[in-house]
Amino acid sequence: MSRFDTVVVVDWSGGNDTGAKPRKDAIWAGIVREGAEIDPVYLRNRKVAEDWLANLIETEQGRLLIGFDFPFGFPAGTAKRICGSHDPRRLWAWFAEHLDDTPQSNNRYALAARINAGFPGEGPFWFNGTKTPIDGLPHKKTDRSGAFDVPERRAVETRSPSTFACWQMGGAGAVGSQAFTGMALLSRLTARFPAAKVWPFDPGDGPLVFAEIYPSLLKDAVRQQMAEDEIKDRAQVRILARALARMNLAPAFAAGGGNPEEGWILGVGAENALQAAARPTIAPPRLKQDCFALPPGVDWVPVDEALFRLKTALSPVTATDTLPVADANSRILARAPVAQRPNPPHANAAVDGYGFAAATIGKPPHVLPLAKGRAAAGAPFHGTVPPGAALRILTGAPVSAGVDTLVLDEDTTTADGHVAFDGPVKPGANVRKAGEDFGTSDPLLPAGHRLRPQDFALLSAAGCAEIEVHRPLRVGILSTGDELIDPNTTAAAGQIFDANRPMLLSLTRGWAHEAVDLGIAADDAVDVTARLNDAAERCDVILTSGGASAGDEDHISRLLRDHGQVTAWRIALKPGRPLLLGFWKGTPVFGLPGNPVAAFVCSLIFVRPALSRLCGGAWTTPTGHLVPAAFRKSKKPGRREYLRARLTEGGEAEVFRSEGSGRISGLSWAMGLVEIEDGAREIEPGDPVRFLPFSGFGL
Ligand code: AMP
Ligand code: MG
Repeated sequence: MSRFDTVVVVDWSGGNDTGAKPRKDAIWAGIVREGAEIDPVYLRNRKVAEDWLANLIETEQGRLLIGFDFPFGFPAGTAKRICGSHDPRRLWAWFAEHLDDTPQSNNRYALAARINAGFPGEGPFWFNGTKTPIDGLPHKKTDRSGAFDVPERRAVETRSPSTFACWQMGGAGAVGSQAFTGMALLSRLTARFPAAKVWPFDPGDGPLVFAEIYPSLLKDAVRQQMAEDEIKDRAQVRILARALARMNLAPAFAAGGGNPEEGWILGVGAENALQAAARPTIAPPRLKQDCFALPPGVDWVPVDEALFRLKTALSPVTATDTLPVADANSRILARAPVAQRPNPPHANAAVDGYGFAAATIGKPPHVLPLAKGRAAAGAPFHGTVPPGAALRILTGAPVSAGVDTLVLDEDTTTADGHVAFDGPVKPGANVRKAGEDFGTSDPLLPAGHRLRPQDFALLSAAGCAEIEVHRPLRVGILSTGDELIDPNTTAAAGQIFDANRPMLLSLTRGWAHEAVDLGIAADDAVDVTARLNDAAERCDVILTSGGASAGDEDHISRLLRDHGQVTAWRIALKPGRPLLLGFWKGTPVFGLPGNPVAAFVCSLIFVRPALSRLCGGAWTTPTGHLVPAAFRKSKKPGRREYLRARLTEGGEAEVFRSEGSGRISGLSWAMGLVEIEDGAREIEPGDPVRFLPFSGFGL
């Protein structure tokens, strides 16, 4: 019962219709569907609410969790008194049968008096909200003796002291009336939707789960996050739905206890995870619109300076979420997680063998009596191993009292209840010490780190259930040019297939961002504008290719200049032309060259670290190493060059047969780039050159 597609939290009410205008003490429903928080729904009375719920259940596509804030059970023994059975379904059915309920009134007080009559003494229910006295229903709690034969509170209510006992039929915070009307509702809904599982009563899992919830568990979060003019019930269902939708529910569902007929409140026993998941999503400030401006007089910017300027201009733009660890694959940490427990949590055996206290076994050769029993992983030995004796211990078993050293199976012989082995024995051998890997509260990984498979082993071993991570960066990718068509269509004269968009989409996904395909725009200001407007709505950053120079058909460059903010960075780089850096409606835009080879190289060198920074990750620098050149080249000073290259079997760098930037095949031929520094260079075969393998760019 862990992940749900939709989580609904219902603040139920035992009172009467509250009118058309949203107000407090009505029924409110908070909804999170596929991670999106939907405006809470106001339901003026129970009839409207029940119809709304039935319709929701019928139309919902995915797995649905519905939480209700009324008790699903009474203190142990009560159900038997009411309906003659401990079975909660019989109890709910009893209320469905005996409660006369309309939006304007119901017989709940009379029913409470009737139930009281079935108890010895005056019975547990109290509070009469009507003017006329009701025989058998005390007005105040002090009017009853408490001499009834069931507990005052359910086990879950003793665990969460701010909860109300269910005996109180009215007054602020009371849940008695809610329980009566709510149990009747449960009876009808479970009859109508037989697939529904009611937690914790029903075993197993299903597409629809009902659970008892208690919004006041998030009192502090609600106080902090409630909008000034917001109705409290609305804020409560909104924030509790968010928390339940985000947290790992498995531990919350596994919590519980007490008598099974009482039920349990989802979240009691998992309060920390619930609080963490209730935290608001914090969106960072947008980038400053002038952050790409170059100082006056700057003409050609060297690559290193361009990288440095970019690094300082950019900051994270993605909001952060608290997620169950299992749902955080490839996400970037927004906060450094710390260990919740040491690793190993207890000293344990590193091998299969025999354990003893090294100081008590005398001189080799050793023959030690074996203690009765053994220790295995998950099945510790509970006694103490006597001095001079040994115990059978298997790998991973907690090291028992009286043991500090192990001897490996292969080094022993056993017979007649004894184990024999030769010395010398190193004290502490083959034992992993508690906390030798890391201790409680040790930082595990830095903020900005992108989670890799091995990190999940670390986080899990350290007992981290939830972590704070950045949302994926949504990267829009737009190709521009009248000559471009989609690769799966037929080309007319003068048309070429769009090569950049498939390449940039793949690069973006490979870097674990969310790629948004914005299609091909014609060289037409209206078309480009429409696509950029759309992109600014649903992307965190936009990559365009083509149209970036200052020519007649270079619409990206002209549009950004006229209607957005833009700076053309003339980077001293080959292959590459000006890189446009700007904003469209507040969203950063990287205008890449149209030429696929140049677009690819600019993406690896500039776009990759920039995107990483925008989504809260570290600034990335490719790793390279010096290798002998297998080629000859004479290079003029003034710009940096990147050549498509691969390593020969002998470890030398050979370069593609043509430096022509239209030769797309060279990109697939290559295994990396040879980087030649900004100054002049005469390269002879055997001279050292810097080779940057594609793997160093995350490819
Ligand atoms: P531009 O920067 O628009 O002048 O384009 C430079 C060169 O790259 C021209 O030859 C374009 O046809 C070509 N080009 C532009 N965009 C693409 C693309 N998406 N796929 C393949 N070639 C392109
Ligand atoms: Mg063009």
